[in-house]
Amino acid sequence: MKVRCLNCGEEIERIPSRAKRGCYCNNGCQMQFRYKTNKINKFEITKKAREARTKKAIQRFKTNPKIHISKRGYKMIYIPTKGTKKYHHFIWEKTHPPVQKGFVLHHINFNKLDNKMENLKLMNGREHNSLHTTISNEQNKEKFRQYALTRQRDKFGRFLSL
Ligand SMILES: [Zn+2]
Ligand SMILES: [Zn+2]
Repeated sequence: MKVRCLNCGEEIERIPSRAKRGCYCNNGCQMQFRYKTNKINKFEITKKAREARTKKAIQRFKTNPKIHISKRGYKMIYIPTKGTKKYHHFIWEKTHPPVQKGFVLHHINFNKLDNKMENLKLMNGREHNSLHTTISNEQNKEKFRQYALTRQRDKFGRFLSL
């Protein structure tokens, strides 16, 4: 049967059993009408809208979360009502308590984008720093070794000046 929206007067099709109650063409019209008739106040409307947005965001988070790579090379995930978080922390916290201050969640194979649980290790900040310093020193030594191979030497093995 045809009825009219209580708010805007638009003609809408409704099944008779549902037409007895007030009819609205959509949620917006229902909200506006309830607001006009003081059944609902402005505060409740913004609250309802916020709830709807949150619900939508949570749905998206479950099916297709927003993910990006940070400037520092970390995979980041957006968690509704909580904000953006490092993805490896998000994975970690599925089975562990959040990482405490002074501790670092280290990528065992040094690949920041490899966020499998097996690749994550909780370390204290100092140990973690010295590990990375050692590694980068070794990398620098290796770089120098590679560079040295390309330089010409004299018969005593000394580098010839460039
Ligand atoms: Zn309407
Ligand atoms: Zn690390």
